[in-house]
Amino acid sequence: MNIKPEEITSIIKKEIERYEKKIDTVDSGTIIQIGDGIARVYGLDDCMEGELLEFPGGVYGMALNLEQDNVGCVLLGSGEGIKEGDVVKRSGKVVEVPVGEALIGRVVNSLGVPIDGKGPIKTTETRPVEVEAPGVIERQSVKVPLQTGIKAIDSMVPIGRGQRELIIGDRQTGKTALTIDTILNQKGKDVVCIYVAIGQKQSTVAHIVNTLSEMGALDYTIVVASTASHSAPLQYLAPYAGCSMGEYFMNKGRDVLIVYDDLSKHAVAYRAMSLLLRRPPGREAYPGDVFYIHSKLLERAAKLSDKLGGGSLTALPIIETLAGDVTAYIPTNVISITDGQIFLEAELFHSGQRPAVNAGISVSRVGGNAQIKAMKQVTGTLRLELAQYRELAAFAQFGTDLDSDAKMRLEKGKRLIEILKQDQYMPVSVENQVMIFFAGTNNYLMDIPVHQVTRFENEFLQYMDTHHRDIGKAIGDVKALNDEIKQQLIDAIEEFKKIFSIEKY
Ligand code: ATP
Ligand code: MG
Repeated sequence: MNIKPEEITSIIKKEIERYEKKIDTVDSGTIIQIGDGIARVYGLDDCMEGELLEFPGGVYGMALNLEQDNVGCVLLGSGEGIKEGDVVKRSGKVVEVPVGEALIGRVVNSLGVPIDGKGPIKTTETRPVEVEAPGVIERQSVKVPLQTGIKAIDSMVPIGRGQRELIIGDRQTGKTALTIDTILNQKGKDVVCIYVAIGQKQSTVAHIVNTLSEMGALDYTIVVASTASHSAPLQYLAPYAGCSMGEYFMNKGRDVLIVYDDLSKHAVAYRAMSLLLRRPPGREAYPGDVFYIHSKLLERAAKLSDKLGGGSLTALPIIETLAGDVTAYIPTNVISITDGQIFLEAELFHSGQRPAVNAGISVSRVGGNAQIKAMKQVTGTLRLELAQYRELAAFAQFGTDLDSDAKMRLEKGKRLIEILKQDQYMPVSVENQVMIFFAGTNNYLMDIPVHQVTRFENEFLQYMDTHHRDIGKAIGDVKALNDEIKQQLIDAIEEFKKIFSIEKY
């Protein structure tokens, strides 16, 4: 072998270059300022954005502002006992949470630490809280329904698996109730549910966990709780953490439903964090990237392509409005990111129309593709009929004489509205929904007094369950109403009406 001297020098030069690059970087720094859950640290030269930092006393922090001479970070725990001059270590990884089957049935905080007293979570896998959303090629269009079990939603604003549907309304209008009922309805449907509580009262979260547990829904649900007593950074992280836990199942080809209750409080937590980090305030004092923090979260909802297993993550974010004002900053942002919205109205809620879904302005932009054919057949004209009813009802208030056709439409509308009413914790199966809407839209309830429609519905569905279970089963199997099923249904309704006693009061 003959090596030329020039070659040797070039190799030595390369070695020297490489040697210089290997010089150890400092991976610890010192605190130069601390307060309000924010620390400025000097000396963390190679720190990454979003990196987990270790403070004294086992407290963790997250690096957010990478500035020229210091790093601004938020503490993910109590800052008590931490002082200026303390050493902060880099961990070399971004913030992660544990993921896996073992989380199902558990209540955890934003870092995946159990807070339900049921012992440690046995899982070895973790996932970063911030993951990029699946791209265009990795997705397919929404086509499988996610049955909420709520008549007003499944009939008029259907939700598909992988969709993002916003639930928006004033305080105390049944927003949380809607999502809890949706979770209850997933029983036995092989959907993993995740309920993320952001900035809510501890007692509210405890109540929800109790409800889920009593109804047997905790067996397939994870609760991620960052209550009002947690620091703003923990509240900020909660939805991302929950989403990562959900993505684990989605990537395994399973279906996931995730509820963010609510994103208004999430935005407020982010605003608090940003202002303390001295980021410039924008409209309504929110930082400029408040749109992005919600869009990057909601973009992670997806229906994956068959190649990737066909799993899905359906997101139901909640937004609270003030006096029904949907034009405020955060509501308009989230409306523009989601695939539709369900408006809940305080006025309807107080007048006893519960769930208080405003059918006129609620929309679902993609869920219609996912609705089963039978449902489409019976509720195709529902929206229109309700709109006509509302118009006529406003007109009739003035005591105007209406012709018989208008009168009939008015009477029908009243009955349809009765059908749309539904108590809490009483999800209705899609077969039962089809049967009662069939009766309602095909004028079989016109001779039932309005105030007895609810009782009629309950007794009728019970009757169908005991005497004609095959009809419900046929609807579930065929997923459409053919002439045969229709005739059977009509016969059954007429049969039942003979035994239904109209009370005279
Ligand atoms: P908040 O703004 O406080 O979060 P919210 O909009 O989430 O309120 P909920 O807590 O879900 O509202 O509901 C408010 C109240 O209305 C609760 O007491 C609940 O039990 C009741 N409620 C909700 N939905 C129904 C329903 N369909 N039928 C009867 N009561 C209901
Ligand atoms: Mg609520």
